[in-house]
Amino acid sequence: MNEPGKEVIVAEGGDGGLGNASFKTSTNRAPRRSTEGWPGTEMWVWLKLKLLSDVGLLGFPNAGKSTFLSVISAAKPKIADYPFTTLKPQLGVAYIDHEEIVIADIPGLIEGAIEGAGLGHKFLKHLERCKVLLHLIDITEEDIKSKYQIIRSELKQYSPELAVKPELIVFSKNDLMGEEQQEKINTFFKKTGLKPMVFSAVTGVGIKEVLRALNSMLKEDIVG
Ligand code: GDP
Ligand code: MG
Repeated sequence: MNEPGKEVIVAEGGDGGLGNASFKTSTNRAPRRSTEGWPGTEMWVWLKLKLLSDVGLLGFPNAGKSTFLSVISAAKPKIADYPFTTLKPQLGVAYIDHEEIVIADIPGLIEGAIEGAGLGHKFLKHLERCKVLLHLIDITEEDIKSKYQIIRSELKQYSPELAVKPELIVFSKNDLMGEEQQEKINTFFKKTGLKPMVFSAVTGVGIKEVLRALNSMLKEDIVG
């Protein structure tokens, strides 16, 4: 059900049977005969909403996903200094170079989400229909590499298709950058060979660059 007006039959209605009018003859104008018909299909159907967005935000709770969404769009997600402040997926529209990018913020993942340990697992489905993943990592994290790997492994376990979606890795909270953080992310980018990207939702540094990078990934249309 991915476009307005689309119809899908999941349960066929019953056959109503024949009423007595069907048994009318020239001699019997009021027959008492009728048939019962057959019951329709009965079942429980659980509909799940999967958001459609260009970009899906990915990252641990507190990585700064909701804050990012709130500064790049008019969306007003809940922001707080504790995990799982985003209980419902949120959509925001960002504008960059006269183009629109729809970004979805889903509740944060935690380790073990795939086994249902956290809330994350329930929400990963919202990422299935986005084209690009924006993976945010808080620069103040003790062990950024393992934070990154945990999310990647959750993704892979949840869905191999999700795991191969193009991903942009960006460090958040650049305003809190110190020498120690700088060293850590330098090592991270050197090892991964990725183009270093940092931003701050507080100062606005790097935000445009992130949106531009997303825009060009979307244009490459790698996922079709
Ligand atoms: P989420 O769980 O990934 O959605 O994270 P939130 O957006 O709720 O942010 C978690 C905490 O980090 C909040 O207290 C935010 O105010 C703070 N935060 C988010 N972005 C920044 C940033 O760029 N700089 C600083 N210093 N704090 C930030
Ligand atoms: Mg949030």
